[in-house]
Amino acid sequence: MIWNREAECMARDEMEELQLKKLQEVVKRAYENVSYYKKAFEDADVFPEDIETLEDIEKLPFTSKTDLRDAYPFGMFAVSPDDIVEVHTTSGTTGKPTVSGYTQNDLELWSEVMARALSMAGGDRTDRIQNCYGYGLFTGGLGVHYGAQKIGATVIPISAGNTMRQVEIMQDFGSTILTCTPSYAMYLAEVLENQGVSADKINLKAGVFGAEMWTEEMRTEIEKRLNLSALNIYGLTEIIGPGVAQECSVKEGLHIFDDHFYPEIINPDTLKALPSGDKGELVLTTLTREGMPVIRFRTRDITALRYGQCKCGRTHVKMDRITGRSDDMLKIRGVIVFPSQIERALLKIEGMEPQYQIIVSRPQQLDELEVQVETSPALFSDEVKHVEEVKKNIEKHIHDEIGIRVNISLVEPQSLPRSEGKAVRVIDKRDLK
Ligand code: ZN
Repeated sequence: MIWNREAECMARDEMEELQLKKLQEVVKRAYENVSYYKKAFEDADVFPEDIETLEDIEKLPFTSKTDLRDAYPFGMFAVSPDDIVEVHTTSGTTGKPTVSGYTQNDLELWSEVMARALSMAGGDRTDRIQNCYGYGLFTGGLGVHYGAQKIGATVIPISAGNTMRQVEIMQDFGSTILTCTPSYAMYLAEVLENQGVSADKINLKAGVFGAEMWTEEMRTEIEKRLNLSALNIYGLTEIIGPGVAQECSVKEGLHIFDDHFYPEIINPDTLKALPSGDKGELVLTTLTREGMPVIRFRTRDITALRYGQCKCGRTHVKMDRITGRSDDMLKIRGVIVFPSQIERALLKIEGMEPQYQIIVSRPQQLDELEVQVETSPALFSDEVKHVEEVKKNIEKHIHDEIGIRVNISLVEPQSLPRSEGKAVRVIDKRDLK
């Protein structure tokens, strides 16, 4: 179902006209109300009246995570703190968190884009949405919550954690839509299997999975094990939270709600804009946010944009599944490796549980990559009977994917840490300072 046909199926020329008008407004608002932007624009010698076309956005300076962090806590607000009705923050695992402030209208905007996202997953008032994203300062829980209420579904605000209770509620309440990280969905599937509950005994029809990177192979695995349609959601606290983009049932990319969030792709090294279809770093500008407008935010996420009408009827531009981050790609002996490539390789192996951890070290001047993989009885097939053969098979698949040799360690089933939020896939022990 299309929640807002007028916005979601708008002709491109109309959309561009709307985007330009909103862009001019937000640039003016940021310049006049946020001292950071006033200075940044003046330093770049660009002023609101210089924005005459959409391409003129390239004249504006970027906003980085550090800029937002330096404004901690409320320095980026464009309205009086009294007009802010809710705040959220990033996790702040690497220093002070970034604060995001919402006015009443911003919460309405957030509910609207999340209503569009949940509708893309087939959600409507008849659904029961089991929302296992964390509630609190993290945007995941409340973002989904607002959208679920907007479409009139029954929201089950169970939040993250307490897995035994999750699987019990899922069965007792007949949850139809599951919202969580993909790694947690895998974990829920594993717990259900251990309890002997088969996928056709649960009522889930769709899953809205995000907040971490995942692969097409992981999707296939989750869909098989939970008997649902698994869709990708994208968002970030700095922009609004979840609901920047969502995959439709066609499953060929995520529609960006580009009447509210204007996307660009840049080369992360030269910082120059790239043509549509080229892979690069996603940059986002909030077109309609009041509380905290953000101009040309460097997301660090690597993707490509695809314009044109989708088979689902929507005209919102689509972005490819995120394949990596410009700041967490690993450089191993000069070769660029994304953790998602390791995952893709592992999931190509019959009987493989996608439970792994990548450990990077530099014992003697040379980078070493170790991949710890959980064993399972299914890994030992008729052809492959011994530990060494299993290791060789995994090593070969990873080599085919990334082009370098890695060390494989097989670890006991269930021994790698399970995550209720974002999975920790990479442990980098190198001292690269
Ligand atoms: Zn579509």
